[in-house]
Amino acid sequence: MSEQLSRYPAVAEIDLQALAHNVQKMREFAPNSRHMGIIKADSYGHGRALFAVQLAKLGYDIVGIAQLAEALEARKELDAAGFQNVAVFSWILPPVGEDTLRDALQTGIELSVSTPAQIEAITSAYASLTQAQQAASSRAAARIHLKVDTGMGRAGATPEEFPALVDAAIQAQKSGIQIVGVWSHLARADEAGEDGNAATMRQLEIFKTAAKLAKDRGLEGFQLHLAASSGQIWHPNTHFDMVRDGIAMYGLSPDPANTATLDLGLQPVMTLKAQLTSVKKVKAGQTVSYGGTWIAQRDTWLALVPLGYGDGIPRHASNAGPVHVQTRQGTVRTHVVGRVCMDQFVIDLGPANKAPANPGDWAILFGNPQRLSTAGCPTADDWAKASGTINYEIVTRLGARVPRIIFEGEPR
Ligand SMILES: *Cc1c(COP(=O)(O)O)cnc(C)c1O
Repeated sequence: MSEQLSRYPAVAEIDLQALAHNVQKMREFAPNSRHMGIIKADSYGHGRALFAVQLAKLGYDIVGIAQLAEALEARKELDAAGFQNVAVFSWILPPVGEDTLRDALQTGIELSVSTPAQIEAITSAYASLTQAQQAASSRAAARIHLKVDTGMGRAGATPEEFPALVDAAIQAQKSGIQIVGVWSHLARADEAGEDGNAATMRQLEIFKTAAKLAKDRGLEGFQLHLAASSGQIWHPNTHFDMVRDGIAMYGLSPDPANTATLDLGLQPVMTLKAQLTSVKKVKAGQTVSYGGTWIAQRDTWLALVPLGYGDGIPRHASNAGPVHVQTRQGTVRTHVVGRVCMDQFVIDLGPANKAPANPGDWAILFGNPQRLSTAGCPTADDWAKASGTINYEIVTRLGARVPRIIFEGEPR
């Protein structure tokens, strides 16, 4: 940890105690459903390896991840940590060769299908696992979830196509394919207004109809899952057998315009901070960064924060992104001035006679305002607002080069 810290002037602290707290909250939001922990995109930017295993330790018996390549990695991490029994579900079936599909089936990764052609590809890959291979790996299994597009307009069979998908699945059962899920995804479950509610209710009805159709045609033993974080929090009638824990598990509200993160009782898991690399006084009239979009109105202290859009700091946060600097004299609350550059940005520390901060002092970009060591700090929600995006994007696109430091509770 200290080596990484000393070599890179920024760090994303990942608070496992906050994660555990949020996991408990998810169980309270949806107390009667199985919970799948979603770890796509390097766990929403919180860090690669670790997360599947951390969630397994927190009691999850299934994790979900978008890309099949990521799923294969998660499978390895879980196995290496002794969590062979934790299932991995992957819902983007890329047009990969049969080899990759076989790898997935060999270790029992659960796959999502939207078309009969995908079922065929899986059936054929499964058949081509030789007897010997199947015997060699007791875990080889073809477990699939049928996806119905209830209104998201993304993946999934349309309601019109769904009966054919079910029929293909029933056929495939004869070749050993197990249908373990029927599922869908809500498009507007975060919205507080009537339109959003109506859209969610329409999706819910289509989902129930699809579930009934699958049962009526003879499928059984599958789990129904529809709700991600927003469905869990705001639509209890969407919970069904299983729910998928995403952004709220990482301690962020699925929609702060609906209910703010802290009002949901969630604790942000990630704190992003960097050490000031310079502090200097400039004269009134000094322009800052490319394009000179900010001009000092008075003599003032400027400090340099060594994070930029190369680290995923949105350039749209130019002249806006909030920053707290922790100094020996206390916390200086300020924001980005001028444009965010690739590796750094500038903040204004005000006109004091003496330097209000020193190189090496920590600038907190966002984190958990309720944590002692970052009390009152800005949140990913604030950065999302300052840059016209959503908190999901703020944490997820944090660059791979920023070290992630795992800790429990207060660091150091
Ligand atoms: C991202 C995602 C989730 C989790 O969504 P959150 O809004 O982060 O809770 C669940 N299911 C699918 C299919 C997803 O793509």
